[in-house]
Amino acid sequence: MNPSVVITKCSDYINEEVYQAIKKSVDLLGGIGAFVKKGERILLKPNLLSAKPPEAAVTTHPAVVRAIIQLVQEAGAVPIVGDSPGIGSAEKVAQKCGIAAVAKEFDVEVIGLATSVSVENPDGKTFKRLEIAKEALEADGIINIPKLKTHTQMFLTLGVKNMFGCVVGTRKPQWHMAAGVDTNAFARMLVDTYLFLKPRLTIVDGIVGMEGNGPGSGGEPRRLGLVFASADCIALDRIITEVLGAKADDLFTTKVAKEDETGITDIDEINILGQEIDDVRVSDFKFPPMVGIEFKLPFSLHSYLRKPLTARPLINNDKCTLCSMCVDICPPGIMTRTKTINIDYDNCIRCFCCLEICPEGAITVKEGWLKRIVSSMQ
Ligand code: SF4
Ligand code: SF4
Repeated sequence: MNPSVVITKCSDYINEEVYQAIKKSVDLLGGIGAFVKKGERILLKPNLLSAKPPEAAVTTHPAVVRAIIQLVQEAGAVPIVGDSPGIGSAEKVAQKCGIAAVAKEFDVEVIGLATSVSVENPDGKTFKRLEIAKEALEADGIINIPKLKTHTQMFLTLGVKNMFGCVVGTRKPQWHMAAGVDTNAFARMLVDTYLFLKPRLTIVDGIVGMEGNGPGSGGEPRRLGLVFASADCIALDRIITEVLGAKADDLFTTKVAKEDETGITDIDEINILGQEIDDVRVSDFKFPPMVGIEFKLPFSLHSYLRKPLTARPLINNDKCTLCSMCVDICPPGIMTRTKTINIDYDNCIRCFCCLEICPEGAITVKEGWLKRIVSSMQ
């Protein structure tokens, strides 16, 4: 059966308006009863990347989580909120971004996804073994609640990418190392992780999204006034990419899903409910500087052209507070702190974990000189 994606307008984070928008979206997909049953323990998985206030648009907005808690409780199920932030505990991040207050209001537990277990993934297209948080596996079902944001490595972080939060934070660098510089390999790991966990429902907070140098503090909030919902994240991500004015292949997870035939990415095969795409198209959305052009080259040219073609992280010393968070998270450990932060570019795998975690937005993407020339000719 073709997947369905619902697009709903919602102008602001007013609790009642958000609740009605999300309820309407879920009703178009068959109602909350189609996704959760009485007595089930349902993990609500927002984006709790780092401890920032809701207006920074780094985390899923508490009004969105609040509405989904209400719906799940109305169905007689038991919601719990959990994630594995890049740095800091889930509880601390939830406190700062306002989700802890909402959880307390409805007597809902906030948990860290902190216990890593290795699992067989025989149906995985590429990764036959994954490491997933035990807490996520123990839930009866998952509702995925991403924030619509740009992502320097993947292009956007939407439904598929948000499930990477079910990999324990301390294990994430290992997966970046496993994929190395190959963005496609990392995207395949994300798709395999998503398909293994298969959240029952995904609701994307696009009321205020993030554009520019996301997904961390370097990005800028952008009011879009939209909520997206689906049981199928690959179809959902494809529709959001279209609404934002990008091509299917721009989003790496969509590109590999299309190549590997692990999901439906053809818009003509997706039922669009609620608003029409043409009624909500976003103009001049600021996409992040991309790092993937080198992968369109023959492999034999990679080692010669990687440096001039590949984007790299650049520290803005005026903004940097020398907190060392980037040094601590860097998967290959090639960042050092002296009087400034130093990067060994020869061994940098261009994972951009440093950019994602920096609380000051002090890391930007510098494009390779050849890539700048190629881009200016396109
Ligand atoms: S670049 Fe950012 S994360 Fe790294 S030390 Fe400076 S402020 Fe901290
Ligand atoms: S410097 Fe940044 S982009 Fe390079 S490997 Fe370290 S975390 Fe990844």
